[in-house]
This record gives sequence, structure tokens and C-alpha cells, in this order.
Amino acid sequence: MKLIMLGAPGAGKGTQAKRLAAKYSIPHISTGDIFRANIKNETELGKKAKSFMDQGLLVPDELVLELVADRLSQEDAMKGFVLDGFPRTIPQAESLTETLEKINSGINFAIDVDVPDKNIVRRMSGRRACVNCGETYHLTNLKPKQDGICDTCGSKLVLRSDDEPETVLKRLKVYHDQTQPLIDYYKGRDTLHSVDGTKDIKDIFSEIVEILGE
Ligand code: ADP
Ligand code: ADP
Ligand code: ZN
Repeated sequence: MKLIMLGAPGAGKGTQAKRLAAKYSIPHISTGDIFRANIKNETELGKKAKSFMDQGLLVPDELVLELVADRLSQEDAMKGFVLDGFPRTIPQAESLTETLEKINSGINFAIDVDVPDKNIVRRMSGRRACVNCGETYHLTNLKPKQDGICDTCGSKLVLRSDDEPETVLKRLKVYHDQTQPLIDYYKGRDTLHSVDGTKDIKDIFSEIVEILGE
């Protein structure tokens, strides 16, 4: 099962992707998580990516394409994967199509998690991420067992600096300009399915499982 998650920043792609990865026993590959790990480890890639991420801009395609191609060539991704946050531009989608064609494969489903802009800023201001493992929570919608502490690893939860309202508005604009055209790209390849991302996390998950099959 080869899946990609589409949707605005904060639509709930990561939340669903983690659950889908567990259900279908496939790796969850988040380019945002990979960049944040590189920033934390102070790698060259991390240093380059950080300045773009802090401004709410996309990291340039040339820094993303090879990274994803490498990740998809690893053994665990052979039988499937759920990509979260990639592709985000038409050239990224084309590159992904080419990478998979080389191994006679392709994307089975592109799931668009649809949430109107007006819901996004509020949702993002409540998102809290673990400084250590990257797990995400929400102040009211998905609370950790203990306020401010990660259920998974016990580290501190913080508001990501790019989740401040001003940066979120910029990221939304970038989404509409550069990422939303992918909806038509995957519609044209007959792989697009949209779900209503304003519903409860559990209901959205069931709807996606219905699309993908048990
Ligand atoms: P969200 O889940 O809120 O949409 P991500 O964690 O996916 O955010 O991404 C955070 C930031 O990392 C993006 O705003 C962008 O700067 C960068 N990024 C992540 N994935 C990509 C990508 N495929 N192409 C370019 N930039 C990316
Ligand atoms: P994305 O990966 O698309 O940027 P996330 O999965 O990180 O989005 O979700 C953004 C925030 O909204 C998180 O704090 C998450 O807990 C919360 N969230 C996710 N799905 C829902 C939902 N269906 N209803 C309400 N809040 C949600
Ligand atoms: Zn954690």
C-alpha cells in the first residue's frame, strides 16, 4: 500500500498518517519530521532547511528530492509507505512518480484531508509537539495524559515556532499557491480521495480505512 497524505498545514495529515502506518504495518515518512531531526542534530541539511522553515516557506525542491528518493529505496519502504508532507510541489510529485516508475510501482491512494482555512489557525495554535520524539498533541482535541508532557517519551511539549499565527497564515498561502495544485495532479491519475478533516479524528480514520480497504 503506497499512500500520500495531502492537505493544508494542520489539517491532520500527521495524526492520520501515524494511525494508518500502524494499521497497515508500513513506515510513516514525514519530511517535516526528517527536517526537524536534522535541525536538532545540527546537520548541514538541517542548517539549510531551518531558515526556510522558520519563515514558513518551503524548503527548495533540490534539498528534498534526493532525501525522499533515498528514504524510499530503503528495505522497509518496498512493500508500502505513507508519505506525510511530501510531495508539496508539482516537481516533487513528478519526481515521486518517476522514482516509483523505476521500480514498476506507483501511488495507490492520495488522501486529501480537507479543512477550511478558517479552522486552521485555531487548530494550529493548540498544537503541541514533543521536543524529543516529535509526537503531536492538541490542547483541547488530543490532550496528553499529563499537561505539557509527552505520553510516549516523557519529554516537554512545546508550540512549534512555525505554528505561531503569523507564520501559519504564510504557510497557508504557500499551501494554496504551491501544494493545492497537487489535488488536480492526483485527480488526473485517478488516485485522489477527499475526506472531511473537520470531523473527529476517529471518524476520519474510519472513512480513510473504508477507502483503502481492510
Ligand atoms: P505541517 O505538518 O504542519 O504541514 P510539516 O511538518 O509537514 O508541517 O512541515 C514543516 C515545514 O517543513 C514546512 O513548512 C516546510 O518548510 C518544510 N517541509 C516539509 N516537507 C517539505 C517538502 N516536501 N517540501 C518543502 N518543504 C517541506
Ligand atoms: P498536519 O500533519 O496536517 O500538519 P496534525 O496531524 O499535526 O496536522 O494536526 C494538527 C493539530 O490538530 C494537532 O494538534 C492535532 O492534534 C489536531 N488534530 C488533528 N486532527 C484533528 C481533528 N480531526 N479534529 C481536531 N483536531 C485535530
Ligand atoms: Zn515524546
